[in-house]
Amino acid sequence: MDLPRALSHSSISMYTECPLKYKLKYVDGIPEKPKHFFSFGQSVHLALEFFYGGKGPAAPSLEELIQSLKDNWVSTGYRDQAQEAEYFLQGKDILTGYYKKHVKGFTPPLHVEYDFKLAVEGVPVTGKVDRIDRLPDGKLSIVDYKTGKALAVDRIETDAQLTMYQLACESGLGAEVGQLTFYHLPLLKPHSVGRRPEALVSALRSRIVDTAAAIVAERFDPKPSENACRWCDYKAYCPVFSKAPEAAPAPSADGDLAALIDRSGDIPARAAEAEREAAEVKAAILSILRRKGYVRAFGARYEIQRSGVEKVEFSEHNKKKVIRLLKDYGLYEKVQAPSGPLIQKLLSDPGTDPLLRASLRELGSAVEPSDLKVTPL
Ligand code: SF4
Repeated sequence: MDLPRALSHSSISMYTECPLKYKLKYVDGIPEKPKHFFSFGQSVHLALEFFYGGKGPAAPSLEELIQSLKDNWVSTGYRDQAQEAEYFLQGKDILTGYYKKHVKGFTPPLHVEYDFKLAVEGVPVTGKVDRIDRLPDGKLSIVDYKTGKALAVDRIETDAQLTMYQLACESGLGAEVGQLTFYHLPLLKPHSVGRRPEALVSALRSRIVDTAAAIVAERFDPKPSENACRWCDYKAYCPVFSKAPEAAPAPSADGDLAALIDRSGDIPARAAEAEREAAEVKAAILSILRRKGYVRAFGARYEIQRSGVEKVEFSEHNKKKVIRLLKDYGLYEKVQAPSGPLIQKLLSDPGTDPLLRASLRELGSAVEPSDLKVTPL
């Protein structure tokens, strides 16, 4: 087969992690489920692209930067609206801190979201570099923003993503790279290293070529590991996780009337027992899903999904504050009573100002949805 598409840092990493996962995503085209941490990272990246991407020499204002976060907010993949509101506030805090730290020394970068395409021994490779600056000595400085809570600082010296960016920028822009940086946004901390040595660049070139050869040769064995499988969306397609369904029970041969009568007599007791067991199992599943923060999980033969609408209730004390808040936003006429279904509608409306949603959630208490949908795999 041919390569299904140009390689990128993330597709090479996925192939290395589990070739079957790569195949399901890039060859079979089965999309992964949206993840809140990708949506959050994308939203903050878009706001920083706005910050640096203007053509003029001056930075936009802080208000404009926060507005760009609102305008570019990616809502998919969050567990619920409370989690989304929490992340929006986190994004706002990060950008406010970033703005205060960097607005004074603002210089328009050489490139923002620089798209590159290169060929490594005929293998096409693409990617995007968050920011490229020009250092005083004329060399390039490459910056990659990280929005995850933790950053493995020890990987900066060897990380293949930065090596790939060096390779791409030097071949595309014709200038030497002098500095490579992972900028850890939650802590507003840049971690910089110098140019990669030739040995690392050459190892990356070999890895690109070897990965392409393995894909073309259709080597797609599953490679289970705790890390790879824990967050993998493809368990339903993966032989490591599928089991043959148990044999159905043999049909009863007893057609005797007395036996039917006895069975009939037993049914209500069995139904009550099944109902009790179902309630017990449901409570245990909901408790585990809540603890782990999952909305969906898989057994060997069924998947289960939390459904229903989360509600927010307000104490008598907070209702006055909610009314004031709604009046400030000019929405009181629309909602009329802070505990009514209309306010729930306001909370679930993606067009509602994220700050208003976050403030309303702070004043109320969330009543989690407790419906479970069970579907055979
Ligand atoms: S469940 Fe594990 S082994 Fe199976 S495709 Fe996903 S990562 Fe690979």
